[in-house]
Amino acid sequence: MSITENLNRIKSTLPVGVTLVAVSKTKPNEAVLEAYRAGQRVFGENKVQEMVSKYEALPKDIEWHLIGHLQTNKVKYIAPFVSMIHSVDSLKLLSVIDKEGERNGRIIQCLLQFHIADEETKFGLSYDEAVGLLESEEYRSMKNIRIRGVMGMATFSDDVDQVRSEFANLKNCFDRLKSSFFMEEQSFSEISMGMSDDYLLAIGQGSTMVRVGSSIFGVRNYSVEG
Ligand SMILES: *Cc1c(COP(=O)(O)O)cnc(C)c1O
Repeated sequence: MSITENLNRIKSTLPVGVTLVAVSKTKPNEAVLEAYRAGQRVFGENKVQEMVSKYEALPKDIEWHLIGHLQTNKVKYIAPFVSMIHSVDSLKLLSVIDKEGERNGRIIQCLLQFHIADEETKFGLSYDEAVGLLESEEYRSMKNIRIRGVMGMATFSDDVDQVRSEFANLKNCFDRLKSSFFMEEQSFSEISMGMSDDYLLAIGQGSTMVRVGSSIFGVRNYSVEG
């Protein structure tokens, strides 16, 4: 199956209102271009350097979403163009994004990443940590970021019930934050959850953004993934 065929097949399964983030990490520019020619405009990358070099080489109407862990000292490289940062997991990181947004005259769209998996290795906030962040004076004074919603990654597992309940947990975090902090803000509307193997499960639990890589572009060569 070609990239175009994969993309069309996946798009046909998405309800209206669910955004497809095509995860192009480790894949060459030509693969991104094929998806672009098939109409895809939203792409996800997990490494800053790779995203910058693709941004420079590829059409400028692509919306680049940073989906991987972000170090504060690298924010400056993506701040001029990034469309959304899915992986905000600390007040410190959010504050650096805000400063870089100001330097670039932009408001940078962000999601708060939650730790929903039963795995130590995945990044993210707990619900209480997110509340602490949103209640802080520092957050309230930020003018160059906008928190658009939440993001999470489920456990890498065949246990469908477990994965479903982790997605339900993220939806629950979203709902509680919405009613506590964002009642007046329609722009707080995104729940980024679901990947190639579990995106339909995620949509069933309320996902508004699915991040799909290998089902579109084929399996990745992990030896170059680092
Ligand atoms: C790689 C990656 C994806 C896509 O994974 P696939 O299984 O290839 O669809 C989604 N989200 C994040 C955060 C990733 O790093």
